[in-house]
Amino acid sequence: VPKQFEQACDILKRMELNGHKAYFVGGCLRDWLLGRPIGDIDIATSAHPQTVQQMFEKVIPVGLQHGTVIVRYDQQSYEVTTFRVEDDYSDQRHPDAVQFVQTIDQDLQRRDFTINALAMNRHGIMIDPFNGKEDLEKGLICTVGNSYERFREDPLRILRALRFSSQLGFQIEEATLTAMNTLNAGIATIAVERIAQETAKFFEGQYINTGMHYFKTIALSGYLPILKDYPAITGRIPQHMKSLKSFGAVIALFHWIEPAIPIQEWVKQWKCSNQIKHDASALAEALSYYHSKGLDHWLVYSLDANVYSDFCRLVNILLTEDLSAYAVRQIEASLPIHSKKDLEIDGTELRRVFPAYEPGRWIGRTLDQLEKQVVTGQLANRQETLKEWLKCNPPVIT
Ligand code: ATP
Ligand code: MG
Repeated sequence: VPKQFEQACDILKRMELNGHKAYFVGGCLRDWLLGRPIGDIDIATSAHPQTVQQMFEKVIPVGLQHGTVIVRYDQQSYEVTTFRVEDDYSDQRHPDAVQFVQTIDQDLQRRDFTINALAMNRHGIMIDPFNGKEDLEKGLICTVGNSYERFREDPLRILRALRFSSQLGFQIEEATLTAMNTLNAGIATIAVERIAQETAKFFEGQYINTGMHYFKTIALSGYLPILKDYPAITGRIPQHMKSLKSFGAVIALFHWIEPAIPIQEWVKQWKCSNQIKHDASALAEALSYYHSKGLDHWLVYSLDANVYSDFCRLVNILLTEDLSAYAVRQIEASLPIHSKKDLEIDGTELRRVFPAYEPGRWIGRTLDQLEKQVVTGQLANRQETLKEWLKCNPPVIT
């Protein structure tokens, strides 16, 4: 068994000693075989969720309705899911009941793509009924079973196929792609949060240009918030894309392409978090600033370090200029302050300098001014210097 799985073998062993079957399953095997970093290790078992809960000391029943519990073991979390069949019954006969099954083969059959339908026991023996290993070698995304049925059961799989093509640089198998093309309208039935999650992973993919090719081939944007109402945006996504880590950067990209749609609207319709909203606004502003003034201290100061690389990629994609994150970090290292809190003067001190002024908006405005002067190197961040400047430039009360 590969090293990364060694620790988790104890879990499989314990389940086996209790008379159950248990396997590593899904994405962790795909990523391990590809030599990529392994995300979560998922486990599939014949044991029912209640039984799993009784077998381990620390368990979190996260998705009992799907047969899933999280087992905490040796400081790690493992998702343990009971063998089951597809749970979205399109005939609505068993709308709430999840149907557990006895064999790993049946469980693998409900999984989306052959490359995700692999299992391995604790001795390193692979179960691969759909030749997923072969597709991994060929670099092929192919549904398990009939593509039409599988995408009809769950249209999210259409987005997952695109996301994997972008993450792995894989081709989409012909019949799979044809079915995606035919059934893409199903996307409209998926919750926006899940669409956004997959779309974020899509744009983050290392092979985004492979992904974009398929994105355009199946005309996906016809079913995505905002993009469906402004088809020109997709057409104007540059030919040479780069992967973007924050979804805020993706929104900044769309906003650059079509400035008529405010960031706020993207955030609302795509139900984004405040963090993404913050990143999108900061990046959009930084792009305009860079476009007219270029790289300087004020620009770097206004960006969070976590979006430096996305910013450089946006500059590269949209303005076709080479800007290295290294250059940005060099400037950051020479910044005199990193936030307003670092100023050698604060609101309380300001009021001492101007005792006759009533507290009011002038305080914030004055601190803004000082911040800009200090960041741009016009004033040294020393209290005396700042006070000197204030005496010559007293705040205007309006
Ligand atoms: P990653 O964790 O890197 O995003 P993953 O393939 O592990 O990718 P998960 O959402 O963690 O994705 O799902 C774990 C496994 O569950 C998958 O590998 C696949 O076998 C199965 N699976 C996930 N989503 C679906 C789905 N919509 N339809 C069928 N099977 C699915
Ligand atoms: Mg996973």
